[in-house]
Amino acid sequence: MAVSTKLAPFGTTIFSEMTRLAIQHGAVNLAQGFPDFDGPEIAKKAGIDAINAGHSQYARMLGVPLLNKAIGDAWTRRTGFHVDPDTHITVTSGCTEAIAATLLGLLSPGDEAVIFEPFYDSYRACVALAGATARYVTLRPDKGNGFGFDEAELRAAFTDKTRMVLLNTPHNPTGKVFTAAELSLIAELCVKHNALVMCDEVYEHLTYDPTLPHISIATLPGMAGRTVTLGSVGKSYNLTGWKVGWAIAWPELTAGVRAAHQFLTFATATPMQHGAAAIINNGEETISKTRAMFIANRDKLAEALSEIGFHVFRSDGTYFLMVDHTPVSRGLGLGGDVDDQVFCRWLTEHAKVAAIPPSVFYNTPANGRSFARFAFCKKPDTIDEAIRRLRKLTR
Ligand code: GLN
Repeated sequence: MAVSTKLAPFGTTIFSEMTRLAIQHGAVNLAQGFPDFDGPEIAKKAGIDAINAGHSQYARMLGVPLLNKAIGDAWTRRTGFHVDPDTHITVTSGCTEAIAATLLGLLSPGDEAVIFEPFYDSYRACVALAGATARYVTLRPDKGNGFGFDEAELRAAFTDKTRMVLLNTPHNPTGKVFTAAELSLIAELCVKHNALVMCDEVYEHLTYDPTLPHISIATLPGMAGRTVTLGSVGKSYNLTGWKVGWAIAWPELTAGVRAAHQFLTFATATPMQHGAAAIINNGEETISKTRAMFIANRDKLAEALSEIGFHVFRSDGTYFLMVDHTPVSRGLGLGGDVDDQVFCRWLTEHAKVAAIPPSVFYNTPANGRSFARFAFCKKPDTIDEAIRRLRKLTR
């Protein structure tokens, strides 16, 4: 193996693996979370216009001015907080680069980072690349049929080495939207331990319960100066392939993000930044249509999955549904040890519907072995076809 010892432990990301398997078996891909429909005309036209207008050279390292401004204006509209587009905002090549830049730029060897598991897989790899140590707090099914964490477990994860908490709300893969009370507790601990927060909010617009609105932890008392808030156009505007993301933070923290970003990608594709600015400035309709479609998909898929026999957890945000597969997989005769890896591969091959085995999002994979994650960011017809195929499981 030629792979560096720093990266070898992390193998191949599950998203590539399951999409490859889905293609190989002709499966409906409810694994990797990307829409199977086009992005909005406003964005496409502005991107194409930018190419025709000759915007084909490097962008500013920190982002094309009109995009930095659009991101800052959107942040102010949503939170009421003011940011300076040039000193608080850094445009990155997708949120995944923003994650890498934040962790590589602000963590030093010996630091500790608190990570909620399950986590988006790049968090753990980038903490390791930064030479820092991760401490995990597990989100577990709670009384409300969602996912929650134990306060004592969170408190115990903080030490005198804690430098940063990695947060993601709305949360992939559980569909959890962190509540005001949960965020206040996390904020209180960060202030007490003088820790930073990286908050990945790429699903900021995809929340479905009016009583559970998305709250940015940066807006809580004492948090503005210690939070790096990450976002992207991928999830909100169905443009996952554009790879335009950002990090919002006070200048002291932005310095860390940019120290890494300048050597990772230096800048993000110029014409896509023009397109991104156009849709962020005029995106309300796209967001409300997308949300309505995803709610219908979620409800239809959740109902079918539970009729088939899965235990379906509530999803108040993102475009993912977590289920407990064991009521179904135990009856399929797949052998004694039907974990999520076995089940999701079997489902892709035999039912021809692909899902993600979430144990790869856990530091202790056993904590995720009974789950499967289905993405519902697909055309209604795609969801219908997946349901038709899944129903055959029970016949
Ligand atoms: N965020 C998306 C998901 O969770 C895809 C990420 C990726 O493909 N790297 O499915």
